[in-house]
Amino acid sequence: MTAQFDTRYDAVVIGAGHNGLTCALYLATNGIQPLVVERNATIGGAVRSAELTEPGFIHDVYSTNQNLFLQSSVYDDYGDELAAHGLEFSTTEKPFCNVFPDGSALRIYSDTDRTNEELRNHSVADAEGWQELHDQFGHFQRTLLPLYEVSLPSASAVRAMATALHNTSIDKILADIRIVLSSTRELGTEYFETPEARALMACWGMHLDFGPDVSGGGMFPFVESFSDLEAGVSVATGGASSIVEALQASFGMLGARFGRTPR
Ligand SMILES: Cc1cc2nc3c(=O)[nH]c(=O)nc-3n(C[C@H](O)[C@H](O)[C@H](O)COP(=O)(O)OP(=O)(O)OC[C@H]3O[C@@H](n4cnc5c(N)ncnc54)[C@H](O)[C@@H]3O)c2cc1C
Repeated sequence: MTAQFDTRYDAVVIGAGHNGLTCALYLATNGIQPLVVERNATIGGAVRSAELTEPGFIHDVYSTNQNLFLQSSVYDDYGDELAAHGLEFSTTEKPFCNVFPDGSALRIYSDTDRTNEELRNHSVADAEGWQELHDQFGHFQRTLLPLYEVSLPSASAVRAMATALHNTSIDKILADIRIVLSSTRELGTEYFETPEARALMACWGMHLDFGPDVSGGGMFPFVESFSDLEAGVSVATGGASSIVEALQASFGMLGARFGRTPR
């Protein structure tokens, strides 16, 4: 699928990361033929896998957990087609765990009861804090999380907010907002008693490069911990590159082309 730079295209997409490739797929589906240009030798940007250690052992170089992709409208629209081009996911029911210097560990399972038992064995107060946060996450999913899928500001955002306010109390909404604006440290100390349970939250806070006391750092641990608990963690079978290769193959079928730009 080599680009003809002397051919005319309807649109040029700069960058063959998964967002550029997705954009090309939507354009091509709607009859607008794009050329996707990429400066690197490989497509995918931060969604890429490679033999980093031994021949035959494929590692995800950057992005690994593909839950967000699986829950996206792109996957709703194109999941079958991407599967036809070889995209499969492997999902674990043991999404994450922290290990500590004394040899102990805190493990989160997709099985809520098993997770609660693990936390209760560690500390009753931690188990109660976890349950409280989990309940609040259920509320957040029904009310504010839908805003993630709409343009801001927009009429759809106003509608989503109006629906949220109609179905809940202002106190619960304020509790959601308080959590997502808190720092990772505040989230940990408010809901958990032991340093181990606080660390369980903190590792997801640090994941997005937020310092422990940066406001807003609580958002990612809140969302990631409980969405991973509920959905497990899914990786692209055979490596993250299979996502972008399937996207490229899908838009290639529609006549869109890919070309490498000189650096
Ligand atoms: C280390 C790391 C781990 C991550 N882990 C996860 C994870 O587990 N789960 C998750 O959901 N997300 C994760 N992310 C985030 C996710 O990978 C990114 O949000 C996503 O890859 C962004 O895609 P993109 O297409 O917008 O940009 P990019 O992936 O950055 O792609 C942009 C592409 O455009 C090209 N480009 C830029 N400028 C030009 C130019 N002028 N001409 C030609 N080409 C150009 C670049 O070379 C690149 O290929 C991670 C990110 C990183 C860095």
